Amino acid sequence: MNMVEMIQKKKRGEALTPEEIRFFAQGAADGSIPDYQLSALLMAICCRGMDDRETTTLTLEMMRSGVVADLTSLGEPCVDKHSTGGVGDTTTLVLVPLVASCGAKVAKLSGRGLGHTGGTLDKLESIPGCSIALSEEEFLRQVRDVGCAVIGQTADICPADKALYALRDVTGTVDSVPLIASSIVSKKLASGSGAIVLDVKTGSGALMHTLEASIDLARTMVAIGKRAGKPIYAVVTGMDQPLGTHIGNALEVKEAIDILSGRAAGDLLEVSLELGARMLLAVGKVETMEEAKQALCDALESGRGLCKLKEMITAQGGNPAVCDDVTLLPQAAYQVPVTACESGWIEKMDAAALGYCSQDLGAGRKKKTDVIDPAVGIIMTCRLGDRIEKGQTIAILHANREEDIAPAAEKIRAALTFTQSGAPVREPLLFARISPEDVEA
Ligand code: URA
Ligand code: CA
Repeated sequence: MNMVEMIQKKKRGEALTPEEIRFFAQGAADGSIPDYQLSALLMAICCRGMDDRETTTLTLEMMRSGVVADLTSLGEPCVDKHSTGGVGDTTTLVLVPLVASCGAKVAKLSGRGLGHTGGTLDKLESIPGCSIALSEEEFLRQVRDVGCAVIGQTADICPADKALYALRDVTGTVDSVPLIASSIVSKKLASGSGAIVLDVKTGSGALMHTLEASIDLARTMVAIGKRAGKPIYAVVTGMDQPLGTHIGNALEVKEAIDILSGRAAGDLLEVSLELGARMLLAVGKVETMEEAKQALCDALESGRGLCKLKEMITAQGGNPAVCDDVTLLPQAAYQVPVTACESGWIEKMDAAALGYCSQDLGAGRKKKTDVIDPAVGIIMTCRLGDRIEKGQTIAILHANREEDIAPAAEKIRAALTFTQSGAPVREPLLFARISPEDVEA
């Protein structure tokens, strides 16, 4: 196998053979292909694409580059969920306990924050004592006994993705449908769940910037699942503003607790119910989406969802009292209102810019070695379409360094676009639902 030939072939837009794709995935995993050749092939794939057969082969070869978890000892199919990444998107912390409290087993493999997007593992670690470093045995026991567990990707799951992802992050090759699809689906297949629900984001805070590309990504991932014999369901949801109002690690945990306590609602709850209902349906706990949503709403109103979150936090070593008293979560030294410099209706919100602003405050990493500040971030007090008067509060900044406050306030103001010509029409939150029946294998 010759990497230079493969790079040239892909550069001309030709399809790679299954043998060539296996060579690429194995070589990425074991380090036998140098980074510069991996990077050149990634760029060629990014520019010329891959057909469905190539993308499926790449996904399965990436999955086979490491161990594939065996959850059969649990005796019933687990369900996993994944989002392509967003801002203020803490659906996982809302829906995992809700879905588990409705009787489905949730074995969730989660990630760290990446670029402007937050990661569930970083959020969970902001809960005092909470650990995401469970052994496989502890993980299985917790899923069996509690009904849900969230862990990080271990070194032996999809090593090919680990190597390729790190290169993509620094070579401008993240936003490619075949590369994102194979990266996400290989990990989800390797984590051993029986059914997978994917939330593909679209809009200013999403990886894919157009609705067309987001739907293409969703269809591609569902089609891979179909070829691999694993039911994958996808929804395409809006990320034209942060999904919830809170951005930052402990702040997003607080928002999830507020929702599970019935103190908050809005788009974050709506998307959580949509995804959660899909999850219950996918493992056959209910017959229809309506029945599923009703079950989730019952779990929310009765407080069973919040109880399940407490059980999960306790099982993972954390302090469950945060669920009754959110002030036990890390608190920022400065909590400062940011006011509007003009009046008008909010027409646009740059969700990615708000994510980067939160990262600048210390909520995310700029280098792999950066240590996250769990307490900092932003609470947005306005939504798209709101009428705002000059001087009105648009956000509350949570900072631990005084010198961060003025530049962050400026970035928040700059992330908003105002219009004077009346309330703009809101885009829908749910753009598409894609099931295995909707795609060709
Ligand atoms: N999340 C992943 O795991 N991989 C991607 O390529 C993009 C988002
Ligand atoms: Ca994620």
